[in-house]
Amino acid sequence: MLKLNRRVAALKPSATLAMEARAGELKASGVDIISLAAGEPDFDTPERIKEAARKAMAAGATKYTPAAGVRELKAAICAKLKRENELDYKPTEVMAAAGGKQAIHNVVASLFDEGDEVIIPTPAWVSFAEIVRLSGAEVKLLPTRESDGFQLRAEELRRAITPKTRGIIFNSPCNPTGAVTNAEQLRELAKVLLEAKLWVLFDGVYENIIYVDRPPHPFAIEPRLKETGIVLNSLSKSYAMTGWRVGFAAGPAEIIGAASRLQGQNSGNPNSIAQAAAIEALNGPQDDVRKMAEEFGHRNKLVVERVRALPGFKLPNVPEGAFYAFPNVSELLGSKWKNGPLTDGNQVAEFILEEAKVAVVGGNDFGAPEHVRMSYATSRENLEEAFKRIANAVRKLKS
Ligand code: PLP
Repeated sequence: MLKLNRRVAALKPSATLAMEARAGELKASGVDIISLAAGEPDFDTPERIKEAARKAMAAGATKYTPAAGVRELKAAICAKLKRENELDYKPTEVMAAAGGKQAIHNVVASLFDEGDEVIIPTPAWVSFAEIVRLSGAEVKLLPTRESDGFQLRAEELRRAITPKTRGIIFNSPCNPTGAVTNAEQLRELAKVLLEAKLWVLFDGVYENIIYVDRPPHPFAIEPRLKETGIVLNSLSKSYAMTGWRVGFAAGPAEIIGAASRLQGQNSGNPNSIAQAAAIEALNGPQDDVRKMAEEFGHRNKLVVERVRALPGFKLPNVPEGAFYAFPNVSELLGSKWKNGPLTDGNQVAEFILEEAKVAVVGGNDFGAPEHVRMSYATSRENLEEAFKRIANAVRKLKS
C-alpha cells in the first residue's frame, strides 16, 4: 500500500470545498441546485482591478517576483494596515502570499512545532485545525457558547492555557458564526494573552463585511500584542478576488522572514499578475468594497428573517459580520429520513441537498455538529427560492 507522509495522510479534506464540489457536480449533471455552500462572494472582481491585471500583463509583469511579493505590493499592504487598522508595519514585516490560506499555513508552519499546543476557539473555520496539525503542533479546540453569542470568555481562555500552549488563532468576524468580537471583549482577552505571552494570530479576512460598528484591530487596542501578534488577511472576500489568490501576513520581521523563506521554497512567489491587481485593489478607490458590503447587509436581514421562519431552525444571534448564518438545527435531530433518524448537522446538510436541492455545509467540521452553515453570498432571488425549498423539505420530515 502507498505510504504517505503521516501528517498529509491524516489531513481531512475541506468540508466546505467538498460540499461545493458536490453541488457543482450535481449542477453539471443537470440537477437544479442552489448553492449556499461556498465561502465566496458572488460578485465579479471590480473592473478597475481586472484592468490593472491586463495592463501588468501587457507591460511584461509575467516573471518571478521576490518571494514575499513586489515592493509596491508590500507598500500597499503597509498603507492599508495604517489607513484601515491604525497599525504601523514596515515592508520587512509584511509578506504577500497566494491567498490567506497560504499566509496562514506559512506562518503557522514557521512558528509551531511538535510538542506545542495551539488554541482554536470554536465554532471555527474548517482549515485552521488542519493547518495547525500539519505543523506537528497539537490543536486545542476551545468551544464557545451560542448563549454567549459565540464569544470566547477571558476566564475560560485563561483556564485553557497550559505550559505547552504557544499560540491562539482568532477570527473576527467569524466564519462560520458571523460573530464579531467588540472592543471591550478584545481588551479582556488581550489581558490574558499578554500574561500568557502567546502568539496571537488574528484573522480578519471578513473585516470589511460587517453590519455593526467595526471595532478597532486588537493590536491597535493593545499595541503590546503586536510583539507576539500576526495580522492575517486576504483580498479574497473584501474585493471578490477568491480566484486570484492574494492574501498577506504582517508581524515581527523574524517570523515574516522565516515564513517568506518557507514560501520561497514551497511556491516561489504569489502570482505576479495577481500582485499587480492587488496593488490596485488596495490603493484604488474603495467604493466597490463598500457597495458589496452593503448588499451583504441587505441579504443578512433577509436571511435572518427566513431562517428564523424555518421549522426546526433556531438563530438566536444575528450574524454581525461575514456572509454566513449558522443556525442551530438540534430540533431536527432525531427526525426520520430515509432509513433512520438525522443524527447531526452533516446529515441535515445531506438531507437538505437531496430533498431541497440546496447545498449547505454541516457544522461538524466547524466544531458544532448541531448546526449548519448557510452562505448568503448569492443573489436575493436565489436566497428566496432556497428558503422556500428548505421549508418544503423540512415540513415533510417525520418526527
Ligand atoms: N480565513 C477564513 C476565516 C476564511 O473563511 C477563509 C476562506 O474561506 C480564509 C481565511 C482564506 O481565504 P483565501 O485563502 O481565499 O484568502
